[in-house]
Amino acid sequence: MDIFEIINQVGENREEYLGAVSPPIFQTAMFATKTVAEMREKIANESDSPFYSRGTNPSFQQVAQKIAQLEKAEDCLLFASGSAAVSAAVLVNLEQGNHIVSVQKPYSWSKKLMTEFLPRFGVTTSFVEGTISENFEKAIQKNTKIIYLESPNSWTFEQQNIEEVVRIAKKYNLITVFDNSYATPINQNPIALGIDIVIHSGTKYLSGHSDTVAGVLCASKMITKKIFASEYMTLGGVISPLNAWLLLRGLRTLPLRMKQVAETTPKIVDFLANHPKIEEVFYPFHQKNPQFALAKKQMKQGTGQFTIALKTDNQEKVERFCEKLHHFLLAVSWGSYESLIFPACALPLQTGNYKSGDLKPNWVRFSVGFEEADTLIADLENALQEI
Ligand SMILES: *Cc1c(COP(=O)(O)O)cnc(C)c1O
Repeated sequence: MDIFEIINQVGENREEYLGAVSPPIFQTAMFATKTVAEMREKIANESDSPFYSRGTNPSFQQVAQKIAQLEKAEDCLLFASGSAAVSAAVLVNLEQGNHIVSVQKPYSWSKKLMTEFLPRFGVTTSFVEGTISENFEKAIQKNTKIIYLESPNSWTFEQQNIEEVVRIAKKYNLITVFDNSYATPINQNPIALGIDIVIHSGTKYLSGHSDTVAGVLCASKMITKKIFASEYMTLGGVISPLNAWLLLRGLRTLPLRMKQVAETTPKIVDFLANHPKIEEVFYPFHQKNPQFALAKKQMKQGTGQFTIALKTDNQEKVERFCEKLHHFLLAVSWGSYESLIFPACALPLQTGNYKSGDLKPNWVRFSVGFEEADTLIADLENALQEI
């Protein structure tokens, strides 16, 4: 199906809402029934029929159906945040004493889940350099249950070869969990390549307007049913009707937004990669990226997120560079209409992130918004002159 056909038509029941083109927000906690028999049926079928909004609500169902189709998945669950989706995807597959093999540099709170939270319940994790697929196989133990992937991963955007890692996971009967937030379902569909569970931070590109925190989990109906009955309803990290509606609203323009940043960002990356004050640029779709061929194989196009290493050890200079930029807001998150920067040196230097090499103080992460490339390049040129 045409992508816009999915976005415009799937899950829309306009005749039920007076023909409203934009669906109403079902801002309700419960749904009443006329008879006890109907109530009984809803309770037995809670994952599919709106009954209580910690479970299902029409405002979730519409957007979940669209995202499932975009991800080429059977089903989709929405969460209050990307981190809630990650936690559910991981927890549902674990028992005490199990082991995870994870890519080395996943999103910071995903890493925290594995290094600080799960060890309380006897679950351990081995982190491996993910650009070499064999590293995953070498780290597998008797008690391994999950291979955790994020490709491209946070900050430096290294990729894992999805097909190769899936082959290893299937050989050892392991579940694969994949954070696809960076690429979005427009640019990469891991489930089509054999991944079991895909999660997204809906806060980023999917909603795309810096006004919503949301999470998405895509998988087979068998897996989502299992999660619904345990982590979803028990931990209760559910999205709100309003945030689901905002996610739907953002999704309407997702392909156009991805097209815009795919056009402008490579020009900005090119400018920076050739600038004498820049040591390195991390961007999967740059010709100089050693994994450029894999990027073209696994992803349709580049996105708006990249990181630069400034050619200086002087933190004051890094800070001045950030503060001299006019068109980039200093903020966390990414994937929205406005351009953002996040300097690594804003994070406390004594954290393990620096010791492990996950972060370096001269790194600045960028999220390109919808401004013209020339506007942003002029701004960068100016700020680089100041240091
Ligand atoms: C932001 C982010 C998350 C967490 O999502 P939240 O919506 O902030 O909870 C997970 N993975 C990646 C790659 C992210 O950038």
